[in-house]
Amino acid sequence: MLRFAPSPTGDMHVGNLRVAIFNYIVAKQRGEKFLIRIEDTDKERNIEGKDKEILDILNLCGINYDKVVYQSNNFHIHQNLAKKLLEENKAFVCFCDEEELNFQREKAKIEKRPYRYSGKCESLSKKEVEKLMREKKEFVVRIKKPTADIKFIDEIKGKMQFTPFEVDSFVILRADYTPTYNFACSVDDMLYDISLVIRGEDHLSNTPKQIHIRNLLGYDKEIKYAHLPIILNEEGKKLSKRERHSSVKYLLKEGYLPQAIVNYLILLGNSFKREIFTLDEAIEFFDLSKISKSPAKFDIEKLKFINKAHMKKIENIAEFLGYHKSYNELLEIFRDESNTLKEIKEKFERIFEECEDEEFKNEREILKQEILNNELEEEYNEFKNRISKNTGLKGKKLFMPLRELLINQKHGAEIKDLYKAMRGYLKDIIKKR
Ligand code: GLU
Repeated sequence: MLRFAPSPTGDMHVGNLRVAIFNYIVAKQRGEKFLIRIEDTDKERNIEGKDKEILDILNLCGINYDKVVYQSNNFHIHQNLAKKLLEENKAFVCFCDEEELNFQREKAKIEKRPYRYSGKCESLSKKEVEKLMREKKEFVVRIKKPTADIKFIDEIKGKMQFTPFEVDSFVILRADYTPTYNFACSVDDMLYDISLVIRGEDHLSNTPKQIHIRNLLGYDKEIKYAHLPIILNEEGKKLSKRERHSSVKYLLKEGYLPQAIVNYLILLGNSFKREIFTLDEAIEFFDLSKISKSPAKFDIEKLKFINKAHMKKIENIAEFLGYHKSYNELLEIFRDESNTLKEIKEKFERIFEECEDEEFKNEREILKQEILNNELEEEYNEFKNRISKNTGLKGKKLFMPLRELLINQKHGAEIKDLYKAMRGYLKDIIKKR
């Protein structure tokens, strides 16, 4: 089974969606199941409704899953396994308070070495532990660091090796008995028989910790790992959550089609023979082992290009956007000159608004009367010749106000095409100008 394990702590980042897509594709390629595991272990950081939002986005993107589980439902299992590790002397209770830990952190800083747990509570005797517990002193549970290096082969990065010092004696159960991310994640990957974990490179240093946990729990089935290179912004820095277009929700709101976002994210860090494809098609040719080892740059211009290609495939754009079918021809014109659905909608909705341009106000008024007082039976050339002759307007003074009457914009599509598309309802539109 493969899995996608989002934390419901914020908007879904494009990097997260990319992870979800890759896991989904590999699950399909291998004929394995795909699990969504909501990692809600950190109560303080959970945001209500974000789990639902993530599932909605996955559905919208066509990423089907077999099962959704909430990590918090497994707390009792995590707690039992932490207890087992304590009983087997593979973990220990730690009473060090924040003050003590901060002191150690400061000390490490001054000595210019990375902070690691001092090991203080590991040597407490059973008696001392019982005494402190009777005094109701708060404690956490720490796993003992490994005695040998932890090694694994990453499917993308190759051979990895971490020392016991790097792994450290880290916390697995917090003072409120909730499991930490590493513990819950490692245990659940074991419980759900995960075969391969594809996730972001930012988790690379967690992997030896998670392997170490399962080693001590006696789980000997190998879980493979593939850590994806990070996504960079245009300046070559890590694409941060604060950048608006890193949020999938924002991109959808801006009028990017889910299938275009999916297409773009699959393309990112890959090179295929073709650039425009569907998720189903990608299952045929995607190859996890061929992903670029270097960071991928998020390029919004490229996303626009891909979005445009997918917008072109929409059969009835009026129906798709929820407008009356009589507007389809005009909407097709707007689609040809737009990169996003939002741009098409803005262009379309503008035609029902008043025109505020002062420059051609008089010309617009003259043309308006001319158009309203005659039947619109002729083709464009005849129409143009007639209104030019009757109003005496020509060149820029004819075309700019005329385009403004039609679509409330000075520049844009050919008037000839607009006239053809709008003839049936043109009078209703210009009445309001
Ligand atoms: N909840 C973690 C995250 O959202 C999951 C990491 C993992 O895939 O193990 O980053």
